[in-house]
Amino acid sequence: MKEILIAGGGIGGLAAALALARKGRKVRVLEKAAEFGEIGYGIQMGPNVARMLDLLGVLKTLEPASVFPEALIFADALTNEEITRISLGKAFLARYKFRYFVIHRRDLLAGLLAGCRQREEIALDTSSGVKTIVQRGDSVTVTCENGATHEGCALIGADGLWSPTRQSVIGDGAPRMAGHYVYRGVVPDEQITDRSRINAMTIWGGPDLHMVQYRLQGGAVMNNVATISSRRFRKGEANAGAADELEEIFARTHPGVRDNLRYVSRERNWVLHDRDPATNWTNGRVTLLGDAAHPTLQYLAQGAQMAIEDGVVLAEKVAAAGEDYNRAFMAYQRERMNRSARVVLSSRFFGEYIHVDGGARELRNELARGRDPDHPWEVDWLYKGIDVNNKL
Ligand SMILES: Cc1cc2nc3c(=O)[nH]c(=O)nc-3n(C[C@H](O)[C@H](O)[C@H](O)COP(=O)(O)OP(=O)(O)OC[C@H]3O[C@@H](n4cnc5c(N)ncnc54)[C@H](O)[C@@H]3O)c2cc1C
Repeated sequence: MKEILIAGGGIGGLAAALALARKGRKVRVLEKAAEFGEIGYGIQMGPNVARMLDLLGVLKTLEPASVFPEALIFADALTNEEITRISLGKAFLARYKFRYFVIHRRDLLAGLLAGCRQREEIALDTSSGVKTIVQRGDSVTVTCENGATHEGCALIGADGLWSPTRQSVIGDGAPRMAGHYVYRGVVPDEQITDRSRINAMTIWGGPDLHMVQYRLQGGAVMNNVATISSRRFRKGEANAGAADELEEIFARTHPGVRDNLRYVSRERNWVLHDRDPATNWTNGRVTLLGDAAHPTLQYLAQGAQMAIEDGVVLAEKVAAAGEDYNRAFMAYQRERMNRSARVVLSSRFFGEYIHVDGGARELRNELARGRDPDHPWEVDWLYKGIDVNNKL
């Protein structure tokens, strides 16, 4: 049996490799970087993906490095007032069966990698950026930047936001810049001065900005993320999203929120992108997964979660279709398209909603104050998760 090739060994690529191996398929992961690794800090994981990680056999191994917040809190960044919360206690667990947790990206990737390394069906190649892709009959041949050539029975492009595989399948050029810029920083927990929400995942929303804070690594460190929707970007000006614009936009916020800005590093920022939902990610025996297929803004914290769900569904469809990879990939795409599109479009909406000012801010806060903390209806469709027929 020929190998299934996967371009990209990020969260999505490794989850897909593990899911396929658990269905008895041979897989080769081709990762461009010299080592498997993740850039950035924390990542939020909802109950929908906790279930997927459990199916993949890695959830338990992630627990020691995870933090389980007691609530998701939304506060107004101008007043520091708590507006609403989603309680993550008993009612949440009873409804969704799995807990919500946060984890360092590095620890999540390490858990997936350890799972892959235990499977003899999986080969893991680093320094193997995929350069060219040729489909012929019942095979796909890829040539890597290092000169190596691999012939597989199919190719999954899990090569991220700037996916070269996507360009060979859809050819739609660069992703859309949202004009949102993110600054992050992790500091030892004891440096945090306001400890009133220390056990929560808190989001402060304000005009053209928001700040996120939650603890990582068993509570040893605090992850701090500040995002701005750049006014300079909207006006087409220079230095959009630069550190001085971060200060400028946060200047109106409550002193407690401004205090948190001390914890984010100005050394680099992340420029956010997404794409309009596509209607076909598959060409013959090549398909896309994760950010390569449906990159999203982070406002529902679901990009990596969608990538992991993709991998589980893809493996199911491959197992059901025998050697007919095109049938498997079309069925996979059909099942994933609307759910991932809803994440992309809802994330844009929530990005707007938390950044409003004036009367819109007043209305947002009034509507949010009326929410039932034990019924997170906005994300219920997400957290309820997907139907997975077969045990992996
Ligand atoms: C600020 C921010 C916060 C976020 N927070 C969350 C969150 O809380 N929860 C959540 O679920 N998601 C979150 N996301 C989204 C999440 O980070 C991404 O959706 C997720 O990492 C996508 O995984 P992926 O495996 O598809 O792509 P990537 O993680 O980008 O992995 C792609 C891999 O492919 C490799 N590669 C690239 N080109 C090639 C090539 N030619 N050949 C071979 N390999 C190649 C890369 O080196 C990389 O290892 C956030 C994103 C941002 C920007």
